[in-house]
Amino acid sequence: MIERTVASLRLTQTSETIRVLLRDFEENASDWLWETDAERNLKHASARFAEVARRPAASIRGDFLAFIAGEDDTIRKVRKNTGDPYEPLRLKFEMQRPFRDIVVPANMDGEQRWWSLTGKPITDQAGVFIGYRGVGSDVTAMHQSRERIAYLARHDTLTDLANRTEFNNALGQLLADGSRSGAALLCLDLDQFKAINDSYGHGLGDSVLRAVAHRIRSAIRDRDIAARLGGDEFSIVLPSNNEFDATAVAERVIDRIARPFKFDGVTVEIGVSIGIALAPHDGETSEELYKNADLALYRAKDAGRGTWRLFDREMDRHLQERRSLQRDIKRALLSEQLFVEYQPFVALDTHKITGLESLVRWHHPERGIIAPDEFIEIAEQSGHIGTITAFVLAESLAVAAQLPANVSIAVNLSPLHLREAWLFDQLSGIIERSKIDPGRIEFEVTESAVLETEGRTLENLHRLRELGCRIAIDDFGTGYSSLATLRGFPFDRLKIDRSFIVDLERRENDAPIVKAIIELSRTLGLRVTAEGVETARHADILRAYQCHDGQGFLFSPPLPKRDVLEWFECDNTAHGMAPGQVGSAI
Ligand code: C2E
Ligand code: CA
Ligand code: CA
Repeated sequence: MIERTVASLRLTQTSETIRVLLRDFEENASDWLWETDAERNLKHASARFAEVARRPAASIRGDFLAFIAGEDDTIRKVRKNTGDPYEPLRLKFEMQRPFRDIVVPANMDGEQRWWSLTGKPITDQAGVFIGYRGVGSDVTAMHQSRERIAYLARHDTLTDLANRTEFNNALGQLLADGSRSGAALLCLDLDQFKAINDSYGHGLGDSVLRAVAHRIRSAIRDRDIAARLGGDEFSIVLPSNNEFDATAVAERVIDRIARPFKFDGVTVEIGVSIGIALAPHDGETSEELYKNADLALYRAKDAGRGTWRLFDREMDRHLQERRSLQRDIKRALLSEQLFVEYQPFVALDTHKITGLESLVRWHHPERGIIAPDEFIEIAEQSGHIGTITAFVLAESLAVAAQLPANVSIAVNLSPLHLREAWLFDQLSGIIERSKIDPGRIEFEVTESAVLETEGRTLENLHRLRELGCRIAIDDFGTGYSSLATLRGFPFDRLKIDRSFIVDLERRENDAPIVKAIIELSRTLGLRVTAEGVETARHADILRAYQCHDGQGFLFSPPLPKRDVLEWFECDNTAHGMAPGQVGSAI
């Protein structure tokens, strides 16, 4: 009994001594000391602790964790998604293990602080656990700057949306979860953003991006994540692969962004196209999902912008096909799989052939004959379009050499090729070698090519024209700024797009447009050709409107070189033809 009393006295003494030493420590450090009993209840709160806790030392008692968390559990509610922030600390206490620098949120007097805690279990002389003792420090400032840095690393500074890294993480997590509800990926592309940036400057461009981000955020729900991946490229990921859900979000985003923006008196209108892919159906990995959403986006843009498209397997098949064509096109050039067909244009009053348009085809060893609509774009993208044009031009001029000198030859030029500085030397070299009068050569370009301000487009056109070649504007009426285009370059010929001609008999509205285009062109001194003349009635109407030439199936489809040559041989006196005559003669 005496022994026990002595032991306990000694213990009180030691702890008294320790406390004195520790108080001394506290006064010289920013840290403070804390102490609990075996039940995790606080005891002996020091003056420093009271200061940090913003309450009298006497009131610092009760369960330590509950004390840090504060009375209300707002902190816990706020940080719901990230789990219980006190879990690591609680585990240490339960297992009676020492711990070091565990950072926890501390709710002191309604303000959220961050404390770093270090503690060690203490035992009595008999080795029985009697509580914890440790130090704490307020690391709020450091924690906040660390959080800020982490935040910056995950967010786009301009718009405050998630950045690519954060977005990829979120998407990756959704996919990895193998979660029952899947995910939807929406890829967005702002229509005409480049134009706004170019015409109003980057300052306004940035404002537009910020405003767009704001509208995207307002159109999605809390659980959805929007990101800016760079430039004007935005993405949204939804934690569900419900198709209706995803398209509803897409609708909402399109609708919000379509409303005009106002910045310092400037009103800006911008549209957005959206491609959607659903996981795991359309892709189980981020890459696959991106690829397919992107493909759907491409389709959405094709469909006229300001709209969304869901990915489907058909698109993928189409893409595979394009890929394989892209691979094959080089071989096509080397092994002479390309060939040219010629379609005449005919003077509507005399029925004489005035020229031939050269149209390229691809005889693919496995797929048979492929139309230019299916491979010209691929050739443009893979940088082969210049070589193709050179081939078509050389072929056509070789044919022209065997035809009467009053038959001209028309070759299509791609806008992408037309931008290139080397285009003129390349083409003029071929023309020179052919010894064909440049006056017989016509180049067809579309409106969009002439509107193009990049590169050497206009310079190239002017130089070709100075050489003596003529320039025709192709597919007229399908672009947007038709009149401005006509003023922008001295064209020699205008070809009215066949979409206007096809319905000439039926659609009342097209007739006045066609009539007006013809009149306008004549006023500007242009020769006018109507494309897609398919019936005698078309030809009659066009003749009445004083259109110069017609081209179309009524006169002849595009024909191989052999047929064209033969045809001029049969009738080399007057190259006249009645409507339908050529087609039936062959
Ligand atoms: P385009 O310049 O508008 O060529 C006329 C297209 O209309 C040809 O299609 C021709 O077969 C078709 N066509 C002619 N008459 C009629 C008709 O009465 N009715 C209908 N429905 N269609 C008719 P094709 O040969 O498939 O060429 C498609 C497009 O491919 C051409 O359109 C042209 O933009 C492009 N293209 C063709 N060859 C070349 C080339 O060598 N270089 C470049 N850059 N593009 C080419
Ligand atoms: Ca053409
Ligand atoms: Ca055309």
